[in-house]
Amino acid sequence: MRSLGALPVNARDPIDAIAASANKCLEGVPGVAFVLASERALMAARGQAPSLSLDLHDQWSGFAEKGEWRFTPPTQVVAALAAALDRHAAEGGVAARGERYRQNCAALITGMRALDFAPLLAPAHQAPIIVTFCMPADPRFAFKPFYDQLAARGFLIYPGKLTAGPSFRIGCIGAIDESDIRLALATVAASMQALGVASGAP
Ligand SMILES: *Cc1c(COP(=O)(O)O)cnc(C)c1O
Repeated sequence: MRSLGALPVNARDPIDAIAASANKCLEGVPGVAFVLASERALMAARGQAPSLSLDLHDQWSGFAEKGEWRFTPPTQVVAALAAALDRHAAEGGVAARGERYRQNCAALITGMRALDFAPLLAPAHQAPIIVTFCMPADPRFAFKPFYDQLAARGFLIYPGKLTAGPSFRIGCIGAIDESDIRLALATVAASMQALGVASGAP
């Protein structure tokens, strides 16, 4: 879901299905998702969907028999996805897009470390998609005011999604490069200053 288009897929191990949407590493607009699935898995899914509109087997057989979407297709979104795939190929495909995201990720982590922030994951486990940082120990730091400071300066981050401990996340993907990351880092520093937080150390 999160990596398709930026990281290689190991298809040597048996895969039943890969699901993704247009708006992650493919950099299309939101509004369409797709599934790459083995015919065996699709056949086994027949009559199993608990949802009418998300019945994958029914949509697949509809395409095969009538060449049509069952419901109104999101035509503009599909056209945007086709354009996004052209841009993906022009950039150099999975390898080049993954490399740009790796550079974004490395610049982000280096810059955040310089402000004493600590990434949750060891480098060996860090994918170049989104980085989770541990919540700073400074009591003047809280997610909501930090988020608001960044948002007021044009940068949106994500709350943490972990039960392991408080954290927040910053994404590395999208039509951005290292210069955008440098701007984001300067904005993080300015936001900390505005909150009176001297260090991001957890
Ligand atoms: C992005 C994402 C979703 C949501 O998909 P959208 O098509 O962007 O709404 C669901 N699950 C995971 C793991 C995701 O990364």
